[in-house]
Amino acid sequence: MNRGLFNKTKIVATIGPATQEEDILKRIIEAGVDVCRLNFSHGTHEGHLTVIERIRKINKELGTHVSILMDLQGPKLRIGKVDGEIQLTDGQIITVTTEECISTADKLFVSYNRLALDAKPGERILLNDGKVELKITEIVNEKTLRAAVVVGGALTSNKGFNLPETQLTVPSLTEKDIKDLEFGLKQNVDWVALSFVRKPEDILELKQIIGIHEKDTRVIAKIEKPEAVENIKEIVKVADAIMVARGDLGVELPLQRVPLIQKDIVEKCIQAAKPVIIATQMMESMIHDSMPTRAEINDVANAVLDGADAVMLSAETGVGKYPVRVVEVMSSIITDVEKDKRVYFKGKKPNNSSPSFASDEVCFTAVRMSDHLEAKAIVAMTRSGYTGFRVASYRPRASVFIFTDNPSLLTRLSLVWGVRGFYYDEYVSTDQTFQDVTDTLKREGIVRHGDCVINCASMPIHKKQRTNTIKVTFVD
Ligand code: PEP
Repeated sequence: MNRGLFNKTKIVATIGPATQEEDILKRIIEAGVDVCRLNFSHGTHEGHLTVIERIRKINKELGTHVSILMDLQGPKLRIGKVDGEIQLTDGQIITVTTEECISTADKLFVSYNRLALDAKPGERILLNDGKVELKITEIVNEKTLRAAVVVGGALTSNKGFNLPETQLTVPSLTEKDIKDLEFGLKQNVDWVALSFVRKPEDILELKQIIGIHEKDTRVIAKIEKPEAVENIKEIVKVADAIMVARGDLGVELPLQRVPLIQKDIVEKCIQAAKPVIIATQMMESMIHDSMPTRAEINDVANAVLDGADAVMLSAETGVGKYPVRVVEVMSSIITDVEKDKRVYFKGKKPNNSSPSFASDEVCFTAVRMSDHLEAKAIVAMTRSGYTGFRVASYRPRASVFIFTDNPSLLTRLSLVWGVRGFYYDEYVSTDQTFQDVTDTLKREGIVRHGDCVINCASMPIHKKQRTNTIKVTFVD
């Protein structure tokens, strides 16, 4: 694959029955997938392991660095089993219990034993993605409450159960999440996403477990609860990346609030140099149809214009009928929108009270110079990846190439806007390194004679400190 020609905005694809076979995985990667998401709400460890092995094999064959993102289910509440389908009617009173039973139109089971302790009369319960609405009328005892049906509708087994107005005391990581996490850490996944994050401590707890396992897996906070929106500033500080999980967010908050929340979160993430993913229903109609709607094309285009690092496909690639085509269509929307100047130069000037101000200023200046000199590439050396994240956060028009001797960084960076990684472990002299990286870009067909390249590095090179140097190179 020509690694010089690529979209800046990355594509995350959820892998499921429609994409898990090796030939389809290869085709979606060739069509533009940068990150494969394994959704631990579904599937077995054995199944996920097979997919992980296939992705790594394809990476070797194609010379790609497709990243692996595990998505933990988190404390998602669901109704239990239903015999076929039940119908709730407007105005009826229904019992909700935490004692396991088959749910009926009179009595619903929910998988959360503290429900009647946390919830209060007057609060709403939303079922099946918000399509059915209940209002709590009475707490009967510690296992049972009663609710009136405000908006009726049909329910089948395991539909979602949301309490947007209730302060839940459920732990942020369930027993299942901890088992899944241990599996993912053992497989060295690149990113782990946590669902239903409410506060920064949820992320810190997850990071602590990762630390105990002596791994350096990076954490994505999924924003889908009103509390997370309230605590967004603190969550962005402690998380390594953010996902705007619009599915549950649109159930927990009025749907019409989601567009501005999305824009606000993207802006905050760009400022903090943390990758941000826009998720859910981006190309929903392509689960069944060969073409997206005009509104879906606009949605993807707007996420690109906002400056999102990545756009995500869920059921479209998980179970959809057109998994390769949907990636091709999404990729072509990105390619076209990225021709527009509104996509670029988003980040504000570095903050002079930040401890990393000096190197942030070097990154900022490198991006500004790349614009003025119409550079083809910005090249940086980094072990932690910091320079890659920071340079990308200023959204340069030039492609960003990171040379690193840290193999796990190569795949991790696949989520980051406009960045591609190369393995490089020669640290002899700065002159030699600049020559080597330029030669690599030339060999890969990314730059040619006369092109301008902006090199960022840390001098002296063997000390591997924060970026402190910029050099302008014109390719021989
Ligand atoms: C969402 O709710 O938008 C989301 C991405 O979460 P999940 O698909 O895990 O329910």
